[in-house]
Amino acid sequence: MPRPILATIHSAALSHNLARVRVAAPDARVWAVVKANAYGHGIERVFDALRSADGFALLDLAEAQRLRALDWRGPILLLEGCFEARDLELCSRLGLWHAIHCNEQIDRLAAHKTQLPHHVFLKMNSGMNRLGFTPERFRAAWTRLNALPQVDQISLMTHFSDADGPRGIEAQLQAFESVTHDLPGERTLSNSAATLRHGAVLDGRSDWVRPGIVLYGSAPDFPEHNVAHWGLQPTMTLSSRIIGLQQLRAGDSVGYGSSFVAEAPLRIGVVACGYADGYPRHCSTGTPVLVGGVRSRMVGRVSMDMITVDLSALPQAGMGSEVTLWGQSTTGAVLSIDEVAQAAGTVGYELMCAVAARVPFVLA
Ligand SMILES: *Cc1c(COP(=O)(O)O)cnc(C)c1O
Repeated sequence: MPRPILATIHSAALSHNLARVRVAAPDARVWAVVKANAYGHGIERVFDALRSADGFALLDLAEAQRLRALDWRGPILLLEGCFEARDLELCSRLGLWHAIHCNEQIDRLAAHKTQLPHHVFLKMNSGMNRLGFTPERFRAAWTRLNALPQVDQISLMTHFSDADGPRGIEAQLQAFESVTHDLPGERTLSNSAATLRHGAVLDGRSDWVRPGIVLYGSAPDFPEHNVAHWGLQPTMTLSSRIIGLQQLRAGDSVGYGSSFVAEAPLRIGVVACGYADGYPRHCSTGTPVLVGGVRSRMVGRVSMDMITVDLSALPQAGMGSEVTLWGQSTTGAVLSIDEVAQAAGTVGYELMCAVAARVPFVLA
């Protein structure tokens, strides 16, 4: 029998979450963001469930090729654009749309020989200060692109830094609109948090939304709101089984560094899942887990191949019991990846992207 750790990808949940995005942005087209191998889910695994999206957005050219290999003929957007001149040939050949965020990318496009003019997405740095032209430089970039025979369509994009928090999107939206109000072209503004939280303001202003994390059933503004609040379903379950049991006496410790000491007799289960599977080592005693669908907690340190869980309230649990590290148990109980991420001081994004190569995946 193989080691019992398993990552299950839930197709129906992916479709559900995409439908949820359509409710939040009824007039927009949807780029399903599938960068980072579909947030760790696997592009080939999510493709069927997400193929009713209007396009796919990502940033790795090899991933774009994988989408075309799946026979996806619709739009694909490279969110960071091209990294070197020969990427433009692939864009021409595969019909990829690409972001333009810097002058070097315009230079390369101006030198590119192509029969088919490109559809580009000119990116404004409206305050995030990562990629894009500042509002002061944006129109000059637009004018330069507009004069190139290599370009036939210019869409406009920006990215919000605080759509999930109290600063919101006002200042960036204002910066974007004051410079672009009289420019033609489609707009794409919203990530997941902007789509869910600022949909009313953005409705009619963003022709395309760019949801990523919501598609994968994680709340973009956890802990202010959780997945139940937003009506999202987890799309990835990391599960394993109990492979060992120990009965601790008061004063006994468990695991490396003896970081957890039992105050009273305590039955613990040893679970085949550790940081080498992608379970975050920063989780400490108290991190929630489901054992047979019932909530319990991890105790002690996460080691490479194992964690230990508290079975004191779970007399029915034993060798082979199902353990849900995050996602959906077979009983239907849900443990959101956001709660586990919070216990590790991180976000659901990082956990779902980091499931290790040794973990087998199945599509359900
Ligand atoms: C990753 C990314 C998104 C999606 O962000 P989520 O928070 O996962 O919705 C949207 N736009 C750009 C430019 C991105 O890089």
